[in-house]
Amino acid sequence: EILSSSGLLTGLNSEQLTAVTWPAQPALVLAGAGSGKTRVLTTRIAWLLQTGQASVHSILAVTFTNKAAKEMQLRLSALLPVSVRAMWLGTFHGLCHRFLRLHYQEAGLPKTFQILDMGDQLSVIKRMLKQLNISDEIIAPRSLQGFINAQKENGLRASQLSARDPHERQMIECYAAYDSLCQNEGVVDFAELMLRSYQILQNNDVLRSHYQNRFNHVLIDEFQDTNKLQYAWLKLLAGKQAAFFAVGDDDQSIYRFRGAEVANMTRFLHEFNVSEPIRLEQNYRSVGNILTAANAVIAHNASRLGKNLRTEAGTGEKIRVLQAINDIEEAQFVVDEVKALHREGLDYIQMAILYRSNAQSRVLEQALFRAGIPYKIYGGLRFYERQEIKNALAYLRLAVNPDDDNALLRIINVPTRGIGARSIENIQAAANEANTSLWQAATNLAAKNSKIAAFVRLIENLQLQATQISLPEIMAAAIYDSGLMEYYRTQKGEQQERINNLEELLNAAVAFKPQESGFEFDSDYDPNDPLFAVLSFLSTASLEAGEHQAGQGEDALQLMTVHAAKGLEFDGVFLTGLEEGLFPSEYSMAERDGLEEERRLMYVAITRARKRLYLTMAEQRLLHGQTHFALPSRFVDEIPEAVLQYLSAHKNSLIARQQSTQRTNPFHSRSKLAETQASQDFDGFQLGQNVHHERFGTGVIIDATHKAEGARLTINFGKQGIKELDTVFAKDKLT
Ligand code: ATP
Ligand code: MG
Repeated sequence: EILSSSGLLTGLNSEQLTAVTWPAQPALVLAGAGSGKTRVLTTRIAWLLQTGQASVHSILAVTFTNKAAKEMQLRLSALLPVSVRAMWLGTFHGLCHRFLRLHYQEAGLPKTFQILDMGDQLSVIKRMLKQLNISDEIIAPRSLQGFINAQKENGLRASQLSARDPHERQMIECYAAYDSLCQNEGVVDFAELMLRSYQILQNNDVLRSHYQNRFNHVLIDEFQDTNKLQYAWLKLLAGKQAAFFAVGDDDQSIYRFRGAEVANMTRFLHEFNVSEPIRLEQNYRSVGNILTAANAVIAHNASRLGKNLRTEAGTGEKIRVLQAINDIEEAQFVVDEVKALHREGLDYIQMAILYRSNAQSRVLEQALFRAGIPYKIYGGLRFYERQEIKNALAYLRLAVNPDDDNALLRIINVPTRGIGARSIENIQAAANEANTSLWQAATNLAAKNSKIAAFVRLIENLQLQATQISLPEIMAAAIYDSGLMEYYRTQKGEQQERINNLEELLNAAVAFKPQESGFEFDSDYDPNDPLFAVLSFLSTASLEAGEHQAGQGEDALQLMTVHAAKGLEFDGVFLTGLEEGLFPSEYSMAERDGLEEERRLMYVAITRARKRLYLTMAEQRLLHGQTHFALPSRFVDEIPEAVLQYLSAHKNSLIARQQSTQRTNPFHSRSKLAETQASQDFDGFQLGQNVHHERFGTGVIIDATHKAEGARLTINFGKQGIKELDTVFAKDKLT
């Protein structure tokens, strides 16, 4: 049943209504978090379709993550009986990929070109540097990778760059060499997807006018985070005709380090002759206290376009703040609260744990794992980046494109099949000499080397199968016939995980529906052709490598970085690791711009919460193998006291004790701690006691907590640093 257009529009406030029904002219919606920007954009698409102003073919809509694109598709198909799969709705990378699949010939790419994820790209770069005899000290692979991607994101090829010094000249030469290597191997990195698409559109008049005529409406979410090239790409596709509808929030611009330019917003107003942005000022997501906190924090930034946010939701609960002794206690507190909330009826999937950097997830994961709470790491788990998965996929990649050198190198001797380093070097030398792919060289050498011959036969077999059997069957061949499964089964140590993952990969192939993958291919592809399925599967895998999907329908707690949380919302949010040096991050504190970007990140983090928000921090945490002490993040100080409630993790906690004795600043004072705790006995030790450790020398106990067994002591060993020791293990080393 088609909803009447009034049904589609009910519930919108008047500013939202204005935005949704904006005539076919350029518009910029500038509004704060939770004000309904994404909802407006989705509703506008539905409204355009329903009123016949646009067809699914004439809309181009860009979202920031695959998850956002999927959610939008779901919402649209719930609103309207249209085939949203046919619509050009996706991320920049996803859409550019689709474009290149359709126009691989114009792009000068092989039909079966493959995508390099960041890890693949790095290994190509390492391999190339080795070929060129350039050592890591002269050019570090990672810095070259950063350089290449930054140039591509700026729309610049090596030939367009000029060097200011010899080192830069070498970097530029390497950039050129890298590009030609990728071209020879028929592989494309993430940045290249974008740049290549852009350049084709720019140079090919026929294609450009085709797309410009096709798209009447170009819509983009999270516009504040587009970089120069993305904006240029959008403009090319929009042409002069299309109604360019951009929504964004300058306060949520958090990708400056990747070249995002907030200035695109003011540029847009100017270039498209838009006199005033449309502003939405009512927040529908968060309760009042959370909004107050967010507004107060972001008010500390100087460079803002300026917006207001109000809510009608009531003040809600206070924001809970906890300072734990260390990261382990912090994690335990979070887990206990999650459990309690779950008991109260909140689904896990409605809760999220956020952190500033990925590395912080491990301690949290450990605690969750022990507590048996199902969780998903969003953007971090990277199923498709795991060794065994990449190995299996490398076989699949070779089956569709044997010239993929990276894939070949990855598995030529995995499982071990007697093709040693020497043989591989011979293949590489032969390939270099004849300027061919490694595969070509290997087939030539097969006559002289039985091991190589066996490998060539294996791959040729897979190649043949790829055109004849179904995706699950060819996947099974890649996993089993290759000997990979057997290899992990017979490996020493804990390989069960890898075996499970390989089995899971097979499940993924069975469940995979190429028609629903959102990829369109050149018209000479038959969707029933097994090759079509393999290609779409591989493409989906590489695109999702950086973005983990929550299992369908599974109730799991969500863990992610603040960056990955953009655009999402949860009933309960735990914002962890709120410490100076961590959030704001250490490197950001040197410059004002850096600090302002961190503050926007904090604003994004706070505004993910609908009802309940926790801010947690640890006095000490293990970072890069060392104990660090930190003060609470300045961002917490920027929140008005009136909306905060301080908690204590356990009865020995610093805060609990201080709250009972004094009501001033709840954050720390070690001497106070010592006073109240000094008389306590911690498994035979006391606070303030001088001790001697056989390895670290003389120290003083500055903190202690009871544990189920024994106690944990924090000891300042002077030059040897501050260490945490468990009495259970350390007792006989301490005197
Ligand atoms: P962000 O800046 O974080 O991306 P946003 O501006 O895109 O936020 P949305 O995610 O679109 O905001 O909306 C926030 C929440 O408010 C969603 O749950 C949405 O469904 C709800 N919402 C938006 N507009 C209305 C409305 N008019 N009535 C009721 N709920 C609304
Ligand atoms: Mg949004």
